[in-house]
Amino acid sequence: MTMLDRAQCAALDAKDPLAFARARFDVPEGLVYLDGNSLGALPRATADHLSAVVRNQWGQDLITGWNKHGWVDLPRRLGAKIARLTGADQDEVVVCDSTSLNVFKLLSAALALQPGRRVILSDTGNFPTDLYMAQGLADLLGRDHRLELVTPEAVAGRIGPDVAVVMLTEIDYRTGRRHDMAAINRLAKAAGVLTLWDLAHSAGALPVDLNGTGADFAIGCGYKYLNGGPGAPAFLFVAKRWLNETRQPLFGWFGHAAPFAFETAYQPKAGIDRFLVGTPPVLSMAALECGLATFDDIDLIEIRRKSLALGDLMIRLVAQECAGAGLTLASPTDGGQRGSQVSYAHDCGYAVMQALIARGVIGDFRAPNLMRFGFTPLYVRYQDIWEAVAILKAVLAGAEWRRPEFSQRAAVT
Ligand SMILES: *Cc1c(COP(=O)(O)O)cnc(C)c1O
Repeated sequence: MTMLDRAQCAALDAKDPLAFARARFDVPEGLVYLDGNSLGALPRATADHLSAVVRNQWGQDLITGWNKHGWVDLPRRLGAKIARLTGADQDEVVVCDSTSLNVFKLLSAALALQPGRRVILSDTGNFPTDLYMAQGLADLLGRDHRLELVTPEAVAGRIGPDVAVVMLTEIDYRTGRRHDMAAINRLAKAAGVLTLWDLAHSAGALPVDLNGTGADFAIGCGYKYLNGGPGAPAFLFVAKRWLNETRQPLFGWFGHAAPFAFETAYQPKAGIDRFLVGTPPVLSMAALECGLATFDDIDLIEIRRKSLALGDLMIRLVAQECAGAGLTLASPTDGGQRGSQVSYAHDCGYAVMQALIARGVIGDFRAPNLMRFGFTPLYVRYQDIWEAVAILKAVLAGAEWRRPEFSQRAAVT
């Protein structure tokens, strides 16, 4: 394979049909940000919009803002935007709570539909909070539900008549490996198993087709690829066929049929609103609204094309520039099997990542030894990948990463 240089990478940016979208963000000058899979960059519109919501809406209109500014509709309004990104209908998605809580709500709803089955099937690569929520729920239910974990490759073969729900994260947060959502949904349906997909690393990163593939339930994150800001509210999806069949166990007043009737007995609202619990966090939702607006007029096919091109470029440049430097690719080389990130194992991955961050290349680290680089096609450029690999090469070649301060683990890695 021919060698690539910086000018060739810059030339790819000149031809990039998504290049215009970077202006929708405030990415600090001189920084290479490859961690939008953990926290999306700040959209340019967010600060002014938040300021207007605080000063004009809250400040001037106070309680009347709930009706006057449609605060009360935010969960559905934002849900409709996420529906477009995930292949759902507008009345199947709502924005609320955190991903963890939404796992709890939807897993409860799904288990209640499967009274004779006791197995919650997931894989060993799933994100711990999803697994913890399932364990806590099984304990709470006290009906012998059992979380069973198999390797990602073994999931399809384990789907069977004793399984109530198969709960998977489509894109593995560590390696970027992608599950075949369509195939799993097909197998599940044939065995009477319900599916619950975590789209934390999918929504906004690649086209998702929840209805086209027959998914039952899904949840996802607002602060990663959707650019909603730190701790942004999450979302959930319930397929129309289950909307009025299911209930979730957190009977909050925002899920009540008539919250402002103030009745003493709970009665769920029809449709997706019954999955709401309490008052929506309006300021956080205002920020998420700006995050979602960065996808306006953007074709997810273009996002996917560029995401894979950025990942392929990273893999190729690391092979070219950093051979023999102790890095092992931990992500699939085949783009079809991969989400929007590339990870490398390195014995001292934490320290190497801290040294990179000190030089302005921001990725992150996932224990025990993975350095993660995420690609957010709306604002990452091909030249950023060149820059990141050039700095990675320099960091690995020198002794810099061995400095003691780079081995000091922070609370968030
Ligand atoms: C980021 C992430 C979460 C986060 O859940 P929170 O409740 O928002 O903290 C959950 N699941 C997966 C797969 C994630 O990647």
